[in-house]
Amino acid sequence: MKRKEELFVIDHSNGQKMIYAPLRKRLIAANQDVVNIVHDHCLGVRIAPDSPAGDILRKLKKEGLIGGKVPDLPTHPQNIAFCPHEVTLFLTSRCNLRCRYCYADAGIKKIDMPLEIAKAAIDYVAASAGILGHDSFAVGFHGGGEPTVAWSLLVACCEYARSIAEKKGLNLELFAATNGVFTPAKRQYIAQTFKTVNISLDGPEDIQNYNRPMRSGRGSYQAIKDTLEYFDKTGLYYGIRATVTAATIDRIEEIAEHLCKTFRPAYLHIEPAWFCGRCLTTQESPPEDDQFIAGFRRAKAVGAAYGRDIHYSGARLDVLTCKFCGAPGDSFTVLPEGIVTSCYEITEMTDPRAAIFHYGKYDPETKTFQFNQERIEALKKLSVENLPFCDDCFCRWHCAGDCIAKAFKINIEQHQGTERCTINRGVLSAELADLINAHEPEQGIISLEGEVAK
Ligand code: SF4
Ligand code: SF4
Repeated sequence: MKRKEELFVIDHSNGQKMIYAPLRKRLIAANQDVVNIVHDHCLGVRIAPDSPAGDILRKLKKEGLIGGKVPDLPTHPQNIAFCPHEVTLFLTSRCNLRCRYCYADAGIKKIDMPLEIAKAAIDYVAASAGILGHDSFAVGFHGGGEPTVAWSLLVACCEYARSIAEKKGLNLELFAATNGVFTPAKRQYIAQTFKTVNISLDGPEDIQNYNRPMRSGRGSYQAIKDTLEYFDKTGLYYGIRATVTAATIDRIEEIAEHLCKTFRPAYLHIEPAWFCGRCLTTQESPPEDDQFIAGFRRAKAVGAAYGRDIHYSGARLDVLTCKFCGAPGDSFTVLPEGIVTSCYEITEMTDPRAAIFHYGKYDPETKTFQFNQERIEALKKLSVENLPFCDDCFCRWHCAGDCIAKAFKINIEQHQGTERCTINRGVLSAELADLINAHEPEQGIISLEGEVAK
């Protein structure tokens, strides 16, 4: 059966519309007459070739908005066997900071992963890389708590992974998401050892110190600044993620300017806080949707003035994908207790969403992992082409259903969007409108690479 054309009509300014074909990477400003012609064409209504409508249709076909082969969907085959060659280790639930909006309420529990489990996970992904014929495998470290607090464990994992890579003749990629509060010796080891590091930093000193204080209550800004300046000197590939709350949204341009001016990250994200975890006790809250949309656009303009592209994860115009993250699939993340989850946020077995995202555990008898194949299959089906709620959304191949853990927090039965849908659509439609405005007066079809089709 021939698949339907995916075209979306989005409101533009002054009663004008935009017609957007994400899979064709084409966009056009259109009045209602053009919208009607495209609508009729998609419904199979015959349009006389020698009529004015026929002329318009020909032009739209020539410029690639419609007609010809319907583009393939950016989906993944569902029948690929589970064989991850990348693992993320949640080494510890301990943390040296007490961030006011921490999703995991980190630092309350104090569990470290036994080295035996970490080694088994590394063995597993290295073996998978061999089976798949890849020349590399990857080992990452992420939250729950702060991975570098379990320092000797982290070093032992890195060194073990390196020894396995050497033995098998494979390349190794080490990555980490961390708060960046390091001693000089840790900084040096990380810069020498890791391929990519993602650091959370919320902007100028007073904001960072308020949002992300040390466990002792002291500020964390200076330690992170020292780390990033060191990374800038060494040329390590790193990114910064800044989180804005209702309390800091009015300073979003200052946040962007501070980060662009002070550091040289390879990528820079600004994200709204979610109301979860420690927000319940601190009462930190996300910014209002319209505040974030307008604020993010101002921050992006500040970044552009510094030659930097500032990103927001829910509106990735440059990405066409069916998955927001690795959670609807084979993301292999091991929690300190040896539980395997596909989502970074579902760290507790008591979380009702554990029944969706926890799909395996370490078995001390066999010294390897046991997986629940049914859950793996169910997770794979959570990519956006299987989420009816997103069917009519023009963001669907950019946002890809957003963070599904957050979606299932709202409704555990089925994905019905997330709290960020309005923001995602608002930021993306504004970026599409910018493209159209930047190309006036040509008024032609715009390719998303920024070129007007001739
Ligand atoms: S589902 Fe959401 S919380 Fe989980 S890993 Fe993906 S983005 Fe993170
Ligand atoms: S409906 Fe919401 S979650 Fe789905 S693609 Fe659109 S913005 Fe994303």
